[in-house]
Parts: sequence; structure tokens; C-alpha cells
Amino acid sequence: CTVGVVRETRPGERRVALVPTVVEKLTGRHVRVVVEPGAGIAALIPDEHYTASGASIGDAWSADVVVKVAPPTAREVASLNPGTTLIGFLNPRGDPEAVAGLSTAEVTAFAVEEIPRISRAQSMDALSSQANVAGYKAVLLAAWECTRFFPMLTTAAGTVKPATVLVLGAGVAGLQALATAKRLGGRPTGYDVRPEVAEQVRSVGARWLDLGVEAVGEGGYARELTEDERARQQTELERAIGTFDVVITTALVPGRTAPTLVTEDAVRGMKPGSVVVDLAGETGGNCALTQPGQTVVRHDVTISSPLNLPATMPEHASELYARNVAALLELMLDEQGRWAPDFDDEVVAAACVTRSGSATTGEVR
Ligand code: NAD
Repeated sequence: CTVGVVRETRPGERRVALVPTVVEKLTGRHVRVVVEPGAGIAALIPDEHYTASGASIGDAWSADVVVKVAPPTAREVASLNPGTTLIGFLNPRGDPEAVAGLSTAEVTAFAVEEIPRISRAQSMDALSSQANVAGYKAVLLAAWECTRFFPMLTTAAGTVKPATVLVLGAGVAGLQALATAKRLGGRPTGYDVRPEVAEQVRSVGARWLDLGVEAVGEGGYARELTEDERARQQTELERAIGTFDVVITTALVPGRTAPTLVTEDAVRGMKPGSVVVDLAGETGGNCALTQPGQTVVRHDVTISSPLNLPATMPEHASELYARNVAALLELMLDEQGRWAPDFDDEVVAAACVTRSGSATTGEVR
């Protein structure tokens, strides 16, 4: 089959769905890869690197399978021929109308967000690969905005204490943030409503903050807290947050707006010059004072809510994403490189959000 790598058009999106090393692997499996001119430019990959890896430069939108990073815009959907397969981040839970649009356009679409978090599909887990980038970059941003050092310094002018860093939500992004804060010399502490992550938090050299509120939901993800649990959590967190120089928040509940974990009172209780980096801005934010996509100063605390951090590291973010996409493609190719998805396969079935012009389920899982 032919796989098309298109140029991303959403503002600020610098990633590309396949990189030359991964193209080479696919062409070795009898797949023809067509790259839209300039598709890799924002990730600093010139067209010649793709052609050197066996791809051709041309009309990638007419390929059998179009691979993308960001959800397609209306104009991009209009560029897809009926019967085309699309793979990418499609935000099916946040934007079901866009999925309906793909269905109307008779596109068969696979949303990488819906790939189940099972061991067999780990190599395809784009949520994790990109969350790693976001968690890492969030700490660098916090260190940049913070008025204090991260590491303990012993100098001729005396000793400086290390920064204390609290990470709320210890999923993939949170664990990477904890590990990065530790490497920078900070003193990280992690918190989550899933008690089983305490061990993972400790394994990256961080402390575990136990607030006694647990909320494990479907598929191992967090569930929404009850009113009572939320009130208890906020009281306990308000008390704890004031003792940290930096707070990084990553708490998400699938299909819901992000929970508020850092109230205005908690910000007021922080030392002047402290920093909050809120990675949940896309779904409303974990801090009550967050302005998604902006950095604001409130009560002498800097509150930053960057959107799409993975796009700020397009080289490695694209490389990791490309490996995820290739693993998913390989699952659906036969020995001769022909497109042969098995819709009964657990991973294929879960990721497929529209098929042959009709949504696979009335409601996205
Ligand atoms: P996510 O991005 O959905 O959420 C981030 C974190 O926020 C989660 O750890 C969640 O528990 C936490 N959270 C939600 N509400 C909270 C609240 N009110 N207070 C504090 N924390 C809150 O999570 P993710 O990083 O995508 O990981 C989700 C799940 O997937 C986890 O169970 C993870 O272990 C699992 N996972 C499995 C695999 C695999 O086995 N292949 C790979 C990656 C992730």
C-alpha cells in the first residue's frame, strides 16, 4: 500500500508523522511512502532526507493511508478522498463532531489516543511518547520561570537550598517531570489518586505525598472524585502546596474537564517567586488561575499553561511518534506490505473510530 506523510497546518505544530529512519523500515516492508513537499521542514527534516530513505515527494493526500500528527482541520478533511485511511491524534472524546466529519467524508480513521494501554500495544502508545516530552519540557519551563535555583549549591558565598517540586498527577508526564526535576537537582514529590503509582514515584527518586484520597476508575485510569473526596483533597492540597517552590500539574480524567487541584487560596499560600506549570490547560487546567496557552503572574506566583509542548521539541517528539505510527501500521500490513487490518484485533478495533464512512460505535469509547 501507499502511505502518505502530510505537512501539518495547525499553528505551532512542528512535528511530522514519519521520520526518515522509520520510512526506511517501512519501505523495506514493501510499503511505498509519499511525502508532501516540506512535510518535515518544521522538524528540520528536508525532503532530500526522505528521498534518501526510499520515499518519494508528491501528493501524499491521495495515498491509501494518510498519517498525521494533529487532528485534521476541515480543509484537510476535504483533501482526503473517500475510502482513504487516516491515522493520527483525532481527539475523538473532546471533538466527536470532527470524527463525524471524517465519517461523512467516508474516511476510515484510527485515533492513536484510543490505542489500549496494554503491553502488546506499548510500542504504539503515542499518548505516552508525547507525554514524556511534555513532562520533561514542563520542568525546564518551571526552572526558567522560577526565581530560585533547582539544585543545592555549595558556594563560597554560602549554601543555597534545593528547590522543592510537587508534581500532581503521576501518569507518564508526571513521572517524567519527577525524574527530570530530580536530575536538575530539585527535591521532587509526587501525588496521584491512583495509589499503585506510589512505588513508581519512589523509583524515580521522588517522595510520595499521601493525602488518603484514592480514585481508580475504568481501564486503570483515574475516575472523577465525588464532591466529598474533592473537598478533602483540596483542603489537604492547599496545606501542602505552600511548602513547594514549584508545582507541576498533569492530572487528567479521560473524557472530562481537568480537575481543579490548585485553588486560588493555594496559590496565595505559595512563596512569592514560586511557579505553577499546568499541563492540563487543553482541558481547562488544574489550577483555578490558569489561562490556557499563557503565562500570568497572580499573587506573585508565575502560572504557566503551555499548550502542545511536544511540538516545541519536534525532532525527538516526531521520532518517537513515528515509531508509534509505524508499529500501528505494521500491525495492519500483511507480509507483502498490503493493507489488511483485522478489525477483530483488540488494538485495531479500539483505535478505529470511523470505518467505511460510518462511525464504528454510536459513541466513542
Ligand atoms: P492521564 O494523562 O490520563 O492522567 C495523568 C494522571 O493524572 C494520572 O496518573 C491520573 O491518575 C492523575 N489524576 C487524575 N485525576 C486526579 C486527581 N483528581 N488528583 C490527582 N491525580 C489525578 O494518565 P496517563 O499518563 O495517560 O496514564 C494513564 C494510565 O495508563 C495509567 O494507569 C498508566 O499506568 C497507564 N499506562 C499504561 C501503559 C501500558 O501498560 N502500556 C502505558 C502508559 C500508561
